[in-house]
Amino acid sequence: MEKKIIAELLRWYAISKRDLPWRSDNSSNPYYVFVSEYMLQQTTVSTVKKRFKEFIKKWPSNAQLAKTTETKILKFWSGLGYYSRARNLLKAAKIIHKDYDNKIPDIYEHLIQLPGIGDYTAKAILGIAYNTSVMPLDTNIERILARVYALNQPLIKIKKLLNEKSNNFISKKHSSKLIQAFMDYGSIICTPRHPNCLKCKINKYCLSYQNNIQNTIPVKIKKTKFKPKKFSRAYILINEYNEILVRKRPSKGMLASMLELPNDEWVEKKSLLRRDNIAKKIEKKLIRKGDLSYSFSHFVLYSEIFYKKIRKIDYPTNKWLNINKYSNSQLPTVMKKILEIMI
Ligand code: SF4
Repeated sequence: MEKKIIAELLRWYAISKRDLPWRSDNSSNPYYVFVSEYMLQQTTVSTVKKRFKEFIKKWPSNAQLAKTTETKILKFWSGLGYYSRARNLLKAAKIIHKDYDNKIPDIYEHLIQLPGIGDYTAKAILGIAYNTSVMPLDTNIERILARVYALNQPLIKIKKLLNEKSNNFISKKHSSKLIQAFMDYGSIICTPRHPNCLKCKINKYCLSYQNNIQNTIPVKIKKTKFKPKKFSRAYILINEYNEILVRKRPSKGMLASMLELPNDEWVEKKSLLRRDNIAKKIEKKLIRKGDLSYSFSHFVLYSEIFYKKIRKIDYPTNKWLNINKYSNSQLPTVMKKILEIMI
């Protein structure tokens, strides 16, 4: 059965594969695959497609990427979120430049040691870029396997079983194409909701379809947890030249090393809020402008937003950002949203 599924998927892929900029007709460029895999962590294919082309235009090879600065890559990354990926990508590019003469490693043990690369990404690079016989399990592939074998438990609880089943689909000759065929099939035919089983080339081998349970697999885990809250206050301080006072965040923790507006330390209870030093001096003259709630992956930030006009001369050591240039700046999205409340 597995051999027949492989043959069907490869046939389907030859005709119906997605047109993705990190793929070329006959072979994959390892650098393109390497960059795309960092971008695709937590971001949809449709968003990455456009940004990938811009990225490659700016940094067409690992050698060029390795020469850039963290500030520049973070600025580029604006809008893609999860900025630690950009930092890790740059660190990895520098290591590849220094230790591997700019060649993306083709050995699992070397890839896995690079910042930001785990088991899945290492296998995706090996399989797609180098046609190595592996099967990286992304959500598309896991979903297809769970449906074909009618595994009616949440995916998170059957990782080991899925891994065992995936071994049945490791190809000796066509690994790169087969991995991408699975990924595309999950995105076009065996979709998360309403899979197109009538058009499916492998429906006669699919136990979920045979038992008409394809719409209940993968089994969902009921969400019971609410996101915890955090509180802050942000300060938009504008000088007579239409510049906003900004500063660099600490080099560790959330949004590390990025620019920010002055704001109070994020705390779990409102009563724990302590006025930021820069705002303390002008506390009485601050004007409340509104509130923002911004959802991060693991908590929601509630921030009160204050505003005040100040004189540049009174803040001689601070950094400034022209207010008209904020949308292209290195400010993370949450800070841009805060500014948008006032602009
Ligand atoms: S028959 Fe339906 S559920 Fe089964 S693999 Fe095909 S599209 Fe997916």
